[in-house]
Amino acid sequence: MKMRGKISQALFPAAILLLFAALAQASDAHWSYEGESGPAYWGELAPEFKEAIGDAQSPIDLDINTPRQVSFHYEDGLFTAVNNGHTIQAAPDDKNESCIVIDGTRYYLQQLHFHTPSEHTVKGMAFPMEAHFVNRSGEGRFAVVSVFIDDGKENEVIKTIWDAVPKEKNVGARINNMFRLTALLPKKLDGFGYQGSFTTPPTTEGVLWIVLNEHIQASAEQIKWFTDLIGKNARPVQPSNGRALTPLQGGQKP
Ligand SMILES: [Zn+2]
Repeated sequence: MKMRGKISQALFPAAILLLFAALAQASDAHWSYEGESGPAYWGELAPEFKEAIGDAQSPIDLDINTPRQVSFHYEDGLFTAVNNGHTIQAAPDDKNESCIVIDGTRYYLQQLHFHTPSEHTVKGMAFPMEAHFVNRSGEGRFAVVSVFIDDGKENEVIKTIWDAVPKEKNVGARINNMFRLTALLPKKLDGFGYQGSFTTPPTTEGVLWIVLNEHIQASAEQIKWFTDLIGKNARPVQPSNGRALTPLQGGQKP
């Protein structure tokens, strides 16, 4: 509203007074940092207070554990393969010090295993298979690296696992020769991280997931062989509830 002329000029000081009165009323509401006038009740103390509270309030918790860099120190070695009834799993022997380092914390490789179809999806799309590399820190925290597997060329490393694993459940068998763990990773190790859970019971939370962008390949026959033995073993996707995805830089495979 524009104010013009003598009458408006006369009204102007009155308007200013009214504005101050309104502000005074708002700030007159007693608020504090505790008790019944504390932060949890601020919205109830004055209509203006209530109106001001939307979906994007400050401050927020800044999650300083959100990683930015991950480095892979995986080494080839002696691995044992097992069909545990839910998946085929390969685990390194005690001497293997394969680990990933996230923000200075080392997570040692416990085992790797497979799901078909993939458990994670990208914009609603699943892939034929997904490999999970389960890593654990000295404090017992878990970081799982996920690699999508496309239908394509036969995978020599997966072949050594399929060749070694007994069809009988829960019987471990040594994979012949050195298991080429590093050859199972894609060339580029960038991806993204998010906080999630295990995908098999108990689906304990507090698991840091690292999903790599670049996929690897296995042949249709290899994927079928797994599916025939294990069946489909992918948990459906769960609500993200606004969980943030953090870009992670893993660089090139060493
Ligand atoms: Zn898994």
